[in-house]
Amino acid sequence: MDTIINNFLSEVEARNRHQPEFMQAVSEVVETVIPYIVSQKIYYGQNILLRMVEPERVISFRVAWVDEAGEIRVNRGYRVEMNSAIGPYKGGLRFHPNVNLSILKFLAFEQIFKNALTTLPMGGGKGGSDFDPKGKSDIDVMRFCQSFMTELARHIGPNRDIPAGDIGVGSREIGYMFGQYKRLRNEFTGVLTGKGLTWGGSLIRSEATGYGVVYFIENMLQNVGQSIQGKTVVVSGSGNVAQYAAEKAIIMGAKVLTMSDSSGYIFDQDGINQEKLQYIMDLKNNKRGRIKQYVKQYPKASYYDGQTPWNVPCQIAIPCATQNELLENDAKALIKNQCIAVGEGANMPSNHGAIHQFLNSKVLFAPGKASNAGGVAVSGLEMAQNSLRFSWTREQVNERLKVIMNDIHQSCLDYGQGEKRVNYVKGANIAGFVKVADAMLAQGVV
Ligand code: GLU
Repeated sequence: MDTIINNFLSEVEARNRHQPEFMQAVSEVVETVIPYIVSQKIYYGQNILLRMVEPERVISFRVAWVDEAGEIRVNRGYRVEMNSAIGPYKGGLRFHPNVNLSILKFLAFEQIFKNALTTLPMGGGKGGSDFDPKGKSDIDVMRFCQSFMTELARHIGPNRDIPAGDIGVGSREIGYMFGQYKRLRNEFTGVLTGKGLTWGGSLIRSEATGYGVVYFIENMLQNVGQSIQGKTVVVSGSGNVAQYAAEKAIIMGAKVLTMSDSSGYIFDQDGINQEKLQYIMDLKNNKRGRIKQYVKQYPKASYYDGQTPWNVPCQIAIPCATQNELLENDAKALIKNQCIAVGEGANMPSNHGAIHQFLNSKVLFAPGKASNAGGVAVSGLEMAQNSLRFSWTREQVNERLKVIMNDIHQSCLDYGQGEKRVNYVKGANIAGFVKVADAMLAQGVV
């Protein structure tokens, strides 16, 4: 089996040199999916995985724009249209200086499986730019977004490719891009998700990824007769996913000890309560400040510069910052400190070594493509509401989100039974694969 897997990976590597994040995402999937394919007559010999790792289309374009000071700026824009077997391409846009093809291909590849797991008809895609919104004025962000959308508009559409937010792309950026798309097309359509509530957005979309992670963790815990109530939780990140994961954990009776940003983390041994979380939300969303300011407001808390929070003893860890933020030694520290569950809020936050540490321990480990699927799931519900020209209530969307997270958990149980216990990595990869593979087989070699 190892030889088949290694041969496959060498073939993919040869065609995708210098794309480490993409190769990391591919190897994590093929380790569990190839043994399954070999055991299933209908998939064996069809080269389905080889087709899945090749994007259907990659678009790369120049984004030239004039900043407030009158200087001409040039960024690079991308859209990776990875797989449309079960629906139009769907996935976020990331604006971050480290964005490159490797990162967007890893994200688009993950998105295929994640979207399939939601049970909604969405294919996989991802896009973005190396533009850095941090520290930029609203005017500069608007000008960049307008220029970016001027090119992207010709490639997307409500039945073709529906982008959304990701790191660096929140409601402000979605607003500017939607405005420009509408202006170019003279059409008011649901071409982006994560829209504002008065212009086609869905209730609970902002909360969905973070809430969904906590629902998924609760599902894993209930399956072993436990609950999140009363547990200590370490959260990394302080963006959209981290904020609402913390909020839901607090509502469900857990004690949230940490949050972080790319500069460091804050530790509050009394727990970050609703009021303190409101302070963080205002700091990050409106003032666009740094997490270290928290200790000025709440002097009993401490700030650790340049560090991640994984050495803080906790029962539950929720990495919500970015890829490869939780390494093998961090996983060892969590295991040593008796952590019982890890739910990934970010995409691929745990590296290969960390995942294997978790899988070889008693920790319940939920990979992002299962546990952070709530965001794109509610994006799917936003698309449905846009088509119906109707909007559902908060309660309706939240209930639907809970059912979807529950269904994803069940799919992981169905496909992830191991010798001793459930392997959620295997379960998520195979359940996602089966749905997309069946559609690809039915549609012939395309
Ligand atoms: N960027 C989010 C993700 O990683 C959401 C994508 C979407 O809503 O289309 O799933």
